[in-house]
Amino acid sequence: MAAVDFLPESFYADFLSDAAKARQPSPIRSLLPLEATPGLISLLAGKPNPTTFPFTSFSFTARAPPSEDGENVEGKEVELKLSGDDLAAALQYGPTAGLPPLVKWLMELQSQVHGRGSGESWALSVGSGSQDLLDKAFIALLNPGDPVLVQSPVYAGVIPLFHSLHCEQIEIDTDADGISSASLRAVLESWPAGKAKPRVLYTIPYGGNPTGATATLARRREVLSLAREHNLLIMEDDPYFYLFYGTHSLRPPSYFEMEHSDPSSAGHPVGRVLRFDSISKIISAGMRIGFVTGPAPLVRAMNMHTATANLQPAGLTQAVAHALLASWGIDGFLRHTRGVSAFYRAKRDVFEEALRRHLTGLIEWTAPESGLFFWFKMLIPGEEGQEADSASVVRTKAFEKGVLALPGTAFLPNGRRTAYVRASFSLLSPEEVEEAVKRLRDTILEVRAE
Ligand code: PMP
Repeated sequence: MAAVDFLPESFYADFLSDAAKARQPSPIRSLLPLEATPGLISLLAGKPNPTTFPFTSFSFTARAPPSEDGENVEGKEVELKLSGDDLAAALQYGPTAGLPPLVKWLMELQSQVHGRGSGESWALSVGSGSQDLLDKAFIALLNPGDPVLVQSPVYAGVIPLFHSLHCEQIEIDTDADGISSASLRAVLESWPAGKAKPRVLYTIPYGGNPTGATATLARRREVLSLAREHNLLIMEDDPYFYLFYGTHSLRPPSYFEMEHSDPSSAGHPVGRVLRFDSISKIISAGMRIGFVTGPAPLVRAMNMHTATANLQPAGLTQAVAHALLASWGIDGFLRHTRGVSAFYRAKRDVFEEALRRHLTGLIEWTAPESGLFFWFKMLIPGEEGQEADSASVVRTKAFEKGVLALPGTAFLPNGRRTAYVRASFSLLSPEEVEEAVKRLRDTILEVRAE
């Protein structure tokens, strides 16, 4: 492959917010790496003496990943134990960016899965879930009042953040092929002269929450090309990457991979993508582990925030995650994720079959290609030519009939009313799906009869 150029360190200065630029490195945390100097006696950090900690070891068992042929190794478990130095490191203060063996393992994963060689100018930090990292990234990149490009509908968990930063949310349409590059182009090309241009695009490329749509390769190419043309950073929030169960014969690569290796990227310097991964949907949500990968200057700016917000992600859950991942290996991890995506594909199919049987003609939907949700439009009348309001129906009639879902307005950056609803299917048995869908049908029929 031809040599790849990277955007220089100085490029990112224009992207960092005033808050990020004003942050000072923590005096203790910036000196901590020096403690590893051989022969050094450190009087530096206020580390408690771990011999006073009451834990002596942690033993746990986990399922083995499926075997090569995809079969589940029935009942097979791996036994794992944290003790000695590993346990001491897990219980002690540790590096801001995450527990070193876990960071190393995750960097190897990123290299293999996204074809990005190690040693390039990208960095990786662990956070307390990807939510923690999204929060820090937006604070590092947006000044109060800045415009930000967001795919719409969008993950409801980022909207309050934009509100708190008083950001103008510029909605980019989405459809069954993911984010609409035509909508992005139209927004950027008609941007008012003299108004500060947006610098950040937030997108969920696989199984967008709430729509479940995955951006096609063609869309991704156009988005990347627009990002170059209009000097944008792409925030690729991808917690459903490993849950992809769509029908694309060629699974589209991530933006993180494409900006480096796609033929359309030839001749362009690399470094516009900040990628967010999460183990929440594949290993555990409660362990609170996510990781950000991207240009080192941006990741460093986020680390400086971590150093004041929470010092570091929790050591024990990182050590547990590392023990598990190291015992599985990257191949075992990938086999496990294929098993998880097959699990949700089956759940999706059961839910869709029930929708077909009971709600044909009463709702409109597109089957999700990843993730845990159906996003559908209730075909109910609105007031005087307005779009119907699913929120009032969900909160009153549906709830009275014993079914709860999330009104679509929660996913619209500017809080518009909508007839869309998000239904989560991840936990339900086929019997519960049947009953829930029937209750939705009765609700809609009642509203239509009014
Ligand atoms: N981004 C999206 C699109 C999500 O759907 C979620 C969780 N629902 C998150 C981020 C946060 O995930 P985590 O558990 O890693 O904080």
